[in-house]
Amino acid sequence: MTQQPSPALPALNARPFAEPGSSPDSPLVVAGPCSAESLAQMRSVAAPLRASGQVHLFRAGLWKPRTRPHSFEGNGAQALEWLKTIQQEYAMPVTTEVANTEHVEACLKAGIDVLWIGARTTVSPFAVQEIANALRGTGIPMLVKNPMHADLKLWLGAIERVESTVGGAVWALHRGFSNYGVTDYRNAPMWEIPIGLRAARPDVPVLCDPSHIAGRRDLLAGVAQKAMDLGMRGLMLETHHNPDEALSDKEQQVTPQGLFSLLAGLTIREEQLSEDQVTGLAALRMQMDSVDEQLIDLLASRMALAEQIGEVKGKQGITVLQLQRWREVFATRSEWAKERGLGLDFVQKVLEQVHKESIRVQTDALSRKKN
Ligand code: PEP
Ligand code: MN
Repeated sequence: MTQQPSPALPALNARPFAEPGSSPDSPLVVAGPCSAESLAQMRSVAAPLRASGQVHLFRAGLWKPRTRPHSFEGNGAQALEWLKTIQQEYAMPVTTEVANTEHVEACLKAGIDVLWIGARTTVSPFAVQEIANALRGTGIPMLVKNPMHADLKLWLGAIERVESTVGGAVWALHRGFSNYGVTDYRNAPMWEIPIGLRAARPDVPVLCDPSHIAGRRDLLAGVAQKAMDLGMRGLMLETHHNPDEALSDKEQQVTPQGLFSLLAGLTIREEQLSEDQVTGLAALRMQMDSVDEQLIDLLASRMALAEQIGEVKGKQGITVLQLQRWREVFATRSEWAKERGLGLDFVQKVLEQVHKESIRVQTDALSRKKN
């Protein structure tokens, strides 16, 4: 493979896409493994990425925030040396996640080009402020992932803390939100949140992280395309030379070749969303589409519960229709609706339909159990 010149990191120190009318013809691409596993692993990923000339920034997690202890928690400070080696050998800017002062100091000392704040950290204003303080005045470019849960203000607040203290470019990074409903995604995209962010802060470029949204390789391309259609400025995609053997997030990582095919398959529309599309009717409709999708997910979750309830009733020999329980459901939900200013008549009609369907699902489950 011939070595292409590395694409310049589009002036991360300025706000490259903030000027009205600016229209990048290809997304900024951040790629690299979920975790830095060894120097050999990082070289195997970095070499083809660098040679392709399509990747602007190489990523690798050193300190991995894992849901439970005793799973692989990253190689920490020793992996910083490997990241440094990649930066120098391949002349590529590199980025990693920082979650506390110790991480920040180590990264500053090593000369890491860009740092990111992870979703579990954005949740805590204390932690974000601690990181920002440790970076005070350095002007280092920062990516701020959305918080785990769908709180736009918390995301905006983290961006404000970082920009006012660190003083460099700050980009938002959309990685989806913890799921409440039944969905195919590891983290629900809830597109209305990044659209809301763009409306509130049109000067902050938004990147998308399809890997953590999708959680599965086969869903990545669709998420990446949607992000491009919404005018997002770049993509972070976890890339591993042998994803099936990865020590973390193996289902969602692509090979370098997989990354290149995904990028080649994207349709990048010339026109960026106009101001009106970001703040006007189209933006509101996009937000409504996303909320409706969640409404359907919630209904699916409710019916899945109804099915389980049907099975339990079957086992216990209880009748499906429990009048007292239905009266309680009807009364409490009507009260919740009133508190939220919803029309009572409308909500009660919806409740009746939902109840009717729950009874049907429970009866089916019960008769399946009998047969
Ligand atoms: C990551 O990018 O590897 C990561 C841990 O992401 P998030 O904070 O989005 O979970
Ligand atoms: Mn990951």
